[in-house]
Amino acid sequence: MQGEDMSRKWVYAFSEGDGKNKKLLGGKGANLCEMTQIGLRVPPGFVITTEACLLYLKDPKQGLPEELLDQVQKELSVVEKKSGRVFGGRDNPLLVSVRSGSAMSMPGMMDTILNLGLNDETLQGLIQQTGNERFCYDAYRRFIQLFGKVALGVPETEFDNEFEEVKQKAGVKTDVGLSARDLADIAKRFLNVVMRFTGKSFPSDPREQLEIAIRAVFNSWGGKRAVDYRREFKITPEMANGTAVNVMEMVFGNMGDDSATGVGFTRDPGTGENVIFGEYLVNAQGEDVVAGIRTPKPVSAMATEMPRLYHELVDLRNKLEAHYKEIQDFEFTIEKGILYCLQTRNGKMNASALVRTSVEMVNDGLIDKPAALLRIQPEMLEQMLFPRLDPHVTKKPITIGLPASPGVAVGIAVFDADRAEKRGRTGERVILVREETKPEDIHGFFASQGILTSRGGKTSHAAVVARGMGKPCVSGAEGIVVDVRTRHARVGDQEFSEGALITIDGTTGAVYLGDVPMIEAEFSSHLAELLSWADNLAKLKVMANADTPDDAARALKFGAMGIGLCRTERMFNGTERLPLMVEMIVAETQEDRQAALDKLLPIQREDFKGLFRIMGSRPVTIRLLDPPIHEFLPSEHQLEEELEQLRHLRDILRGMHVLSDSVNFLNTTKGTHSPVQKFTDPALVDEIIQKKEAMLRKGRALHEVNPMLGHRGVRLGLTFPEIYRMQIRAILESAAECQKDGISVHPEIMVPQVCTSQELKRVKIWVDETRASVEKSYGLTLDFKFGSMLEVVRACLRADSLAEEAEFFSFGTNDLTQATFSFSREDAENKFLPMYNQSGILLDNPFEVLDVKGVGRIMEQAVKWGRHTRPDMDVGICGEHGGHPASIRFCHKIGLTYVSCSGPRVPIARLAAAQAALLENKKPVDKAA
Ligand code: ADP
Ligand code: MG
Ligand code: MG
Repeated sequence: MQGEDMSRKWVYAFSEGDGKNKKLLGGKGANLCEMTQIGLRVPPGFVITTEACLLYLKDPKQGLPEELLDQVQKELSVVEKKSGRVFGGRDNPLLVSVRSGSAMSMPGMMDTILNLGLNDETLQGLIQQTGNERFCYDAYRRFIQLFGKVALGVPETEFDNEFEEVKQKAGVKTDVGLSARDLADIAKRFLNVVMRFTGKSFPSDPREQLEIAIRAVFNSWGGKRAVDYRREFKITPEMANGTAVNVMEMVFGNMGDDSATGVGFTRDPGTGENVIFGEYLVNAQGEDVVAGIRTPKPVSAMATEMPRLYHELVDLRNKLEAHYKEIQDFEFTIEKGILYCLQTRNGKMNASALVRTSVEMVNDGLIDKPAALLRIQPEMLEQMLFPRLDPHVTKKPITIGLPASPGVAVGIAVFDADRAEKRGRTGERVILVREETKPEDIHGFFASQGILTSRGGKTSHAAVVARGMGKPCVSGAEGIVVDVRTRHARVGDQEFSEGALITIDGTTGAVYLGDVPMIEAEFSSHLAELLSWADNLAKLKVMANADTPDDAARALKFGAMGIGLCRTERMFNGTERLPLMVEMIVAETQEDRQAALDKLLPIQREDFKGLFRIMGSRPVTIRLLDPPIHEFLPSEHQLEEELEQLRHLRDILRGMHVLSDSVNFLNTTKGTHSPVQKFTDPALVDEIIQKKEAMLRKGRALHEVNPMLGHRGVRLGLTFPEIYRMQIRAILESAAECQKDGISVHPEIMVPQVCTSQELKRVKIWVDETRASVEKSYGLTLDFKFGSMLEVVRACLRADSLAEEAEFFSFGTNDLTQATFSFSREDAENKFLPMYNQSGILLDNPFEVLDVKGVGRIMEQAVKWGRHTRPDMDVGICGEHGGHPASIRFCHKIGLTYVSCSGPRVPIARLAAAQAALLENKKPVDKAA
């Protein structure tokens, strides 16, 4: 260690560490300090800082700095004093756990070693002290096994094989059946395994053990599991850098029937219900619960089994929640009737539990509304908008396990994580089916729709990880027997192999063969209440992109305050409309075109009336036709193929007519023609051929090298005025008709692809003319707005001048991003963008995450310039970015009036809009680079 580092403090006792400093002490360490300091019973111990970890990892070969070991030594002697035991002592040995814990919780991703300090000598001391030989040998063999695996790199199977052998010799099925003798035998065999595998004897000096263990925990920060996990959850070095090491006195939950170990949640993390929730095992060590080796009991059973301790546990739960003001997920151990808390952290919950607890904690006065709104990541709400199993389904489940993480998943069964990853990558929907899962399986989780295990409780690894990811999970489905080798599973007399479709329902625990019908998710009353608070605090309004009355109705249910974008071109794709559209496109004269448009007008009018009726007085923004019209024609290639077939058909039909004439000639007495002949008339085919040829000609004439930058949007509108005029008329007439029916409507006519105010001026003339004529013929005054998309860079730069015509703006950030980067989206995403992201040239995909530094800067200026001309101007965003929380935060910052996104994202956007307002003066919006 160099100069200044010499005097640094690397080690903090639980009684002195700052419970708020998770960055330095890790989450687990900081909370152990805090719990100790608020008077909860925590075994004595200390934290080695994350800074020490980083320093060590710079050059692990150097070993741990002397300075650090000295400080550890000093704190260890304090622990000895507090516990009345001696580390490495013969008579009354102190055993410790050496636990990892970084600033961000990464459950099970790093290593922990228990029972450290045991060797052949201290073991005898422990036996004297406890009078329980069996327990001591069990502790010893667990220590050798864990230390061997974690610190010395001995493969787990080496130990498992020995274990199985002894079990077989003893003729028992589970480890509970093993005697002290058997366990002593196992311990000895384990020591030999270590010798065989490492070529060295197992380190017996407790101080050496401790040093090796600290290094191993530090090293686990860089282990594959941990690195994968951080990558998946985007945990950056700013969020967590290095792991702390917690050294604390061991307490034992396996000291007999007055001992136990368990995991608790201060509220039910599945439903959010305000009841203590958790699981425990009598006479067991913590790892037994987490690993899901034995299926534990619900804590409610403790009320009758250990009433006094149940009381203490409820008291602990109340203190934790009152202090942290957040749902806690805690570990406890009872040693000979004394309850210890070993860990606490903020509980991970699915979205509906988060929403429910938020609302209830506000109503209980535990937190305020802003805190409630800020504790939920907007994206998480998506889970609540997912479908559920149709309750009317009568299909019988093949088995029912524990409902470990709610939601329904359908996919093919896969029995190991590697194959799940492989098949998931190819786009298959996979359900990972395991006996139990381990942290090593994490990549399989990422690739799966849901997880099914045959062992383990609701706090098993599989359940905890699945809940954190919001993926459905059924655990402890004991009827299922999995054979990984043959990729096969059996449940009673039913069987299924890898690739079989199954459905799991993490809300009920049911498992089905095949797929089961689902229904759309429903809004809970808690969510409605929470989002009403959000709407009150937010400055941004949230609109929906909706093209049809069905879309609009759905968006309204999600709380949309209006329609921010109705794309009229989608309305032309219906089967009865497309031919009219094609007729309009291939028209050679203005009259022909007008004739086709006259047929489209009433259809469009009905479309708009449908939208207006549903949205009532809420604003409805309708965009005039945007895409290049050749998009409505079949491709050139397709037309050519069709034509070839038709010509072929025509020849055949001609031949058939010759044939039929000959037949008639020979058989004149039969007289009448068959009715089929009408359809086989070659003239009819000729007519079709002519139509298709016209389409082909038109398609070729309309061909563009770069259609997205070509003849589309307002440019098309200005070359074929009849189209926009028809649309404007349809909008205004339907508004007038609704008004007549007593519905006060507020359409907003929006022009796409504008780049100069001259374009707007010309469209505006048609709008004014049409307004005058409609108002006159209906005898009323219309209330609507006229505005422009801002999706062309020049339009943004000329926003002040555009604002003279436009009463509102709406940013089309999809096109604006393409234009700002000069990236065509499809080409970028399929070719170079992944490389750009991987190598850090761009941090995000700008089509998903609004590029606030470039595109955003243009937007910010455009808003200022536009409002310079028209100060009260509404400005919105209707690109895909409008539904993404980080982009929404930026939109709030630059003073937009609203964001518009797809219906199901509306709740997400509403929450994000409130958070944007709440965080207004907090951290900066964007990341580095
Ligand atoms: P993780 O972060 O993976 O949960 P932990 O450090 O919490 O790892 O430890 C794993 C298990 O060991 C937990 O069940 C924990 O309660 C238990 N444990 C850790 N330290 C002690 C201790 N001092 N006494 C008893 N059990 C312990
Ligand atoms: Mg833990
Ligand atoms: Mg666009």
